[in-house]
Amino acid sequence: MSDSITIGIDLGTTNSSVAININQTIVIVKKPGGVGYTPSVFGFDKSLNKIVGQKAYEYLHKYGSKNETLNFKSEIKRLMGTPEEVFFERAGMSMTPEDISAEILKSLKEDILRKYPQFDTATAAVITIPAAFSVLQSEATKKAGNLAGFKHVVLLQEPIAAASSYGFQNSENENWLIYDLGGGTFDIALISCKDGILSVLGHNGDNFLGGKNVDWDIVDTIIIPKILERYSLDEFTRKNPKFQNIFSNLKYSAEYAKIELSQYEKTTIDIENVGDDDTGKEIVLSIDISRQELEKIIKPTVDRTIDLTKSTLTETGVKSTSIKKIILVGGPTQMPYIKERLESDLQISVDASVDPLTVVAHGACIFGISKQIPAQYRDDKPKEQGAHNIVLNHPPLTSETEEPITGIINGLDEHRQFYIQIQSESATFSGPKTKINNGKFYYPVNIEPNRQNKFWVYVFDQSGDTIKISKDSFTITHGLSVSGAPIPHSIKVVAAIKDHSTKRLIDTCDTILEKGSILPLKKTLDGYVTSKVLKKGEDITLDIKIVEGESDIPDRNTFVCKLGINGKNLPHDLPQGTPVELTVQYNESREVIVTAYVPLIDMTLNARKTQKDEKVDSDEILREFEAQKGRITDTAQHCSEKERDRIQGMASQVEHGISNFDADEDEKRKSHKQLKDLKIMLDEIEEEKTMLKLISEYNSKINSLGELIDKHAPPSQAQEIKSRFESIKLDGQKAINTENKVLLARINDQINNLESTVLLSNLGFCTEQFKYLIDLGRDGNFTNENEAQYHIAKGFTAIKEENLDELHNCMYNLKMLLPDSDNTDVHAGITR
Ligand code: ADP
Ligand code: MG
Repeated sequence: MSDSITIGIDLGTTNSSVAININQTIVIVKKPGGVGYTPSVFGFDKSLNKIVGQKAYEYLHKYGSKNETLNFKSEIKRLMGTPEEVFFERAGMSMTPEDISAEILKSLKEDILRKYPQFDTATAAVITIPAAFSVLQSEATKKAGNLAGFKHVVLLQEPIAAASSYGFQNSENENWLIYDLGGGTFDIALISCKDGILSVLGHNGDNFLGGKNVDWDIVDTIIIPKILERYSLDEFTRKNPKFQNIFSNLKYSAEYAKIELSQYEKTTIDIENVGDDDTGKEIVLSIDISRQELEKIIKPTVDRTIDLTKSTLTETGVKSTSIKKIILVGGPTQMPYIKERLESDLQISVDASVDPLTVVAHGACIFGISKQIPAQYRDDKPKEQGAHNIVLNHPPLTSETEEPITGIINGLDEHRQFYIQIQSESATFSGPKTKINNGKFYYPVNIEPNRQNKFWVYVFDQSGDTIKISKDSFTITHGLSVSGAPIPHSIKVVAAIKDHSTKRLIDTCDTILEKGSILPLKKTLDGYVTSKVLKKGEDITLDIKIVEGESDIPDRNTFVCKLGINGKNLPHDLPQGTPVELTVQYNESREVIVTAYVPLIDMTLNARKTQKDEKVDSDEILREFEAQKGRITDTAQHCSEKERDRIQGMASQVEHGISNFDADEDEKRKSHKQLKDLKIMLDEIEEEKTMLKLISEYNSKINSLGELIDKHAPPSQAQEIKSRFESIKLDGQKAINTENKVLLARINDQINNLESTVLLSNLGFCTEQFKYLIDLGRDGNFTNENEAQYHIAKGFTAIKEENLDELHNCMYNLKMLLPDSDNTDVHAGITR
């Protein structure tokens, strides 16, 4: 087999598809019925056979009886990277999302082997993932590939795959938008094609937007009202377990009608053989639906995709006039309305020339050409007896039309002259017989554009007899190559940082790798120290948590992995402030590898690679949503009308999701994500208000500090304090004029410091504070009562003698004996 990858797989949420590279041609592997894709549904039939694809899809939806929903699973891609498992009743066992995806991949491989048995030995594949897939989701996909028997798996982002396919024969310098609307996800990517290299300039997406939403909207807004007009059914909702199979069936009918409306102006949804098992009541109904009605339903979905497309253009600073084409990917893009809307709203022409359902697999296969399979996974032919070992150096992929080949042949007799000749299989290129010097050669070959070029290599001796060599052919493909993939989310570490306004430590996120940076990436940071004391032998862990996302607040981001320094493994106590060196690597196979090194004890920690996302808990979502309600009302009072509408829209989506928790497993994840988005939106609006907050804090502090200085500043220091106060005021005014938040926050800190200086220089104030500390330590609150009593006695003497320095000392010591109240909210084991 070839040295590079010859299988490309689009492992889709709804449908999967596979392409192979055979005899220099990319072929989509067809199912026996002639279609180029397979529904991504898996389950067990009555005889416990594993079933994947169209048949499984029909079991689940078309004949959807209660039994089958417990024995078949669709949309497993949604659960990738989560700890959730799926229980199959008939088989009596649970399977992980990776296991189920592996079954789909195995079935695709069987489809290949049915027609191309020589692929039996193929051990490598390119598998595509959505551009926005998290680290954990990517890792899970890779694992599924390994479980399916692919020893070497290369992951590729779907939009890049689509662009590779499209760009294979279009190597002009231009920009394209890849618009991919699938069954449950939407991805938009701006791709630049420049001098033979494809790169992603920017992308956006929504993991909960796609054809499936449209199907449910048809069920909810058209079918259900019509059914309820005719039949009286109690609690006829998706949530009601009694009706689950009916709803599954209605969704099937809705989807069927939706697809028909891509062809026809009108269709009829026929509902029959659908009934209530308990009452024996059967629903028989015909509902007419027009394309216009459907367009009304899909409008919000399309609006959202256009918003995301526009943001991508704004974020990248690329004008729509410099976009040559929009390339459509995904089943729902076959709805004519989408093409119309994109052209009218964006004024960019739409190219629908590629097959939207197989283009991703096709592109994945093309990408495979440039990916060499590592030697340990290659299935090399055993070397022919007596053949001379030859090493050929050439690029697998090029955008040039001529490439120099260099090589070395071992074991040739030094005293004799040998020659090499290279010819292309298509016979368009035939090079001259060229001398081999000391086993080495240099040989330029011509490349035919936009195709795979296979070359044959011949070695002769002086008398023209051929010499056997270990490898007598190679392939160079002319086409676009892909520059490294950008990371879809920033990678951050959670660290405890002092908050300016409250003076407390809080958990925040520090960015380590920026969103959009090109893989592979590696960064070492040495500014961190431990945030707490860790005692030897204690079973307590200092956590170093890595997350991905764009927020500074840890719970808004997605979990990646966690490292822990545990007291049990320590050779001695680890004081607070011990330096920790952190290294984060993000490699091209989308693995994040985190290492923490503690030089003091020469300890190295590594993140386990097979970690999973935290489970999504319905109660937790409900609780969290309740907790956010106050914030929603507060923020809504202080923001623009447009923002208010968005907040309320998002909140009602979460609420809608919560009401459907029991009906649809996926609703839980969707609500979890939407709640996160809602919180981020609230954060952003609050963030805009922080300047106002800081200014009002500044003004009130300046007033009170002025009075305090007049009243309490000791005469000996009054002059110095006053001039510091004046200079703070000057800086403060500057910060307000330039709207510099960071500076103003710092100035507010300086005011607090000056305030403490004034207060601490006042005996009356210090006496009050001292007594307050004693109060705090009452009822055995001091960590060491004897020591506390000693400092208390000393403090009272100091007050009597008006010895301020001594009193400050006592106050400090007492404070140290009080339990640490500052760090109670902090989980991060490291700080800066
Ligand atoms: P995924 O990327 O999620 O695997 P696909 O790109 O295969 O998804 O798209 C699947 C979705 O496309 C389904 O919701 C299906 O109903 C829809 N679909 C397929 N063909 C058509 C069509 N001709 N018109 C409208 N929708 C279609
Ligand atoms: Mg897809």
